[in-house]
Amino acid sequence: MLDLVQEIQHLKKEKNATILAHYYQEGDIQDLADFTGDSLKLARAAARVETETIVFCGVHFMAETAKMLNPRKRVLLPDLKAGCSLAESCPAKKLQRYQEMLRENGRRFQTVTYINSTAAVKALSDWVVTSGNAEEIIRRVPVDNEILFVPDRHLGQYLQEVTGRPMILWDGACIVHEIFSVRDLLELKKKVPGGITIAHPECPANIREHSDFIGGTEAMLKLVAEYAEPRDFLVATEANMLWQLQSKFPRHRYHPVPGISCACNKCPHMALNTLEKLRDCLASGTPEITWEPEFARAREVVERSLLN
Ligand code: SF4
Repeated sequence: MLDLVQEIQHLKKEKNATILAHYYQEGDIQDLADFTGDSLKLARAAARVETETIVFCGVHFMAETAKMLNPRKRVLLPDLKAGCSLAESCPAKKLQRYQEMLRENGRRFQTVTYINSTAAVKALSDWVVTSGNAEEIIRRVPVDNEILFVPDRHLGQYLQEVTGRPMILWDGACIVHEIFSVRDLLELKKKVPGGITIAHPECPANIREHSDFIGGTEAMLKLVAEYAEPRDFLVATEANMLWQLQSKFPRHRYHPVPGISCACNKCPHMALNTLEKLRDCLASGTPEITWEPEFARAREVVERSLLN
């Protein structure tokens, strides 16, 4: 293992590469990264990378976003098959047909798209949001326009509640956040009295309503930092986030909220990236995310929404 880590560090220097890793990657990958973060923080970091190569340890749509924001860089993704159930739930052609149908029916609307979507879908959108900036962007949509929110219906529902804006919701969901078990959460609360439940807004309403705090991964880190004395946190998001919480704020105790069908709640797409594949992609310079025609329009939307 040590040899592999040293090999990656050596290759990173030799190939003049920057490693970006999402909080949902295994701890050993996050440990090797130059930057860790949620989708928003990593998109902003990718735009500023100066080395020749970016290795994106995350999923496909994140690497696409890095490429569109910093097109002159070579962007590598250790496993090209690392997808996302949310991005897959909203194919661009289907979204385009739906938008046309709404227009034909005289509906005036703007499309607000969660960053967990393909570049082709971002290109069909007015705004791109993350869990960190969604409320702020939604307040920018003129009130005489309806909002078509894609692709996460749970995040959309949550945003309807906090902004008071009714939305047309696409029927997508994250396979990781959708399967938290309410029964197990309530059991865990009994076992950990005084614990603070923190949940990602991709969780369904039945989990959110039993939570003390709802926010994306950056918001979770900010919240936990505010507690000076050791506390117990019950965490309803992808399980590798516990590694990030533990390494930044080891004074607290963290308890993963279990899922219905799986005790660990790890994202199978993120898990496709391994240290071995990270080493191999640095060594070979593949698989690479190449520029696609739709990136130009998607980039305009992403820049307006996330970088300004
Ligand atoms: S955790 Fe969910 S939203 Fe995130 S990459 Fe995996 S499937 Fe997609």
